[in-house]
Amino acid sequence: MFKSDYHLHSSFSDDCGESIEKIYIKALELGLTELAITDHMDPDFPRRDNLFDLDFPLYMRKMKEYRDKWSDLLDLKIGLELGMQSHLAQRLEQVFQDPDLDFIIGSLHCSDHTEFFDGSFFRGRSRDEAHRTYFMAIHENLSVFRDISVLGHLDFIRRYGKEQYGTGHKDVDYRLHMDVIDEILTLAIDEGIGLEVNTSGYRKGLGQPHPDERILKRYHDLGGEILTLGSDAHKADDMAGEFRKATALLEKVGFKYICGFHRRKPVFYPLSDQVYHYYCPDPSRKMVAR
Ligand SMILES: [Zn+2]
Ligand SMILES: [Zn+2]
Repeated sequence: MFKSDYHLHSSFSDDCGESIEKIYIKALELGLTELAITDHMDPDFPRRDNLFDLDFPLYMRKMKEYRDKWSDLLDLKIGLELGMQSHLAQRLEQVFQDPDLDFIIGSLHCSDHTEFFDGSFFRGRSRDEAHRTYFMAIHENLSVFRDISVLGHLDFIRRYGKEQYGTGHKDVDYRLHMDVIDEILTLAIDEGIGLEVNTSGYRKGLGQPHPDERILKRYHDLGGEILTLGSDAHKADDMAGEFRKATALLEKVGFKYICGFHRRKPVFYPLSDQVYHYYCPDPSRKMVAR
C-alpha cells in the first residue's frame, strides 16, 4: 500500500511554521505510509531579500536525521521545491548532485524579477498576455532545469491577478495557450519529468487541482505517465487534502499509476490502490517520543 503526500512544507520554508514532529503526527493520523517534505529553495526571489533561501547543507542534515530516527514509522523522502529561474542553473548545480535528495519539484514563483503574489507580474499585461508569458516562462525554465523530478503546480497562475482582472483572473483560456502547453508537456515527457497534481487548487476554491483536468488529459493523451500527488500544505491540517477527489479525477482521465520517488527515480504504484484509501488511519502506528 502506498499512501503519501508529495508536497509538504515545514518550518524550513520562510512562509511556514509547522514542525516536522507535527507533520509526522498528522501523517500517522491519516494513515500515510510515506511522505515527502519539499521545502522552498527559491534564491533571488524578487524584492524580498533572501525570503525563500534555504541553508541546503543544514536542511539535508536535519532531514536525514528525521528520516533515520523515525524510519520504523514512515518512509521520509527528502524533497525540495526549487524556484526555477534560468540564471540560477549553475548556482544550484550542487543541489542536483546530492545523492540523498529523493525528489525535486521545479516551480515557477516569479518571472523577470516580478512576482505573481503581489501582482507586479501582471502590470501592463492583459490577462491573456500574462497567462501566455507565464507558460512561455515555464517552458524556458524547463529547458534549463532538466533534472527536476516533476513540474510543480502547472497553471497556478490562475490563482493570481484578481486586482488587475477581477474574478476573470481564474479563467485561463486554454485554447489560446495550448500550443505552448503542448511544448511544455512534450518536453517534460521527453526528459522523463513528471507532473505534480497539486490539490491546493481545491483549497483555494478553484474547483480543480493544478494543473486542471484539460492539461492532465492532454498529458495523458501525449503519453505522460509520471504523476505525483501533493497538497502543498503549509499547515499539517491541510495534509492530503482532497486527495480522494484528485485521485478520482486521475482515474476518470485514464491514468493507471501514481508515483513516489526514491533518489530521484520514480516508483510506480497502482492508482486504483489509492482512490478509496485516504483517511483510513491505522491505529497500530503511533508516534513514540524517544
Ligand atoms: Zn509553489
Ligand atoms: Zn509549495
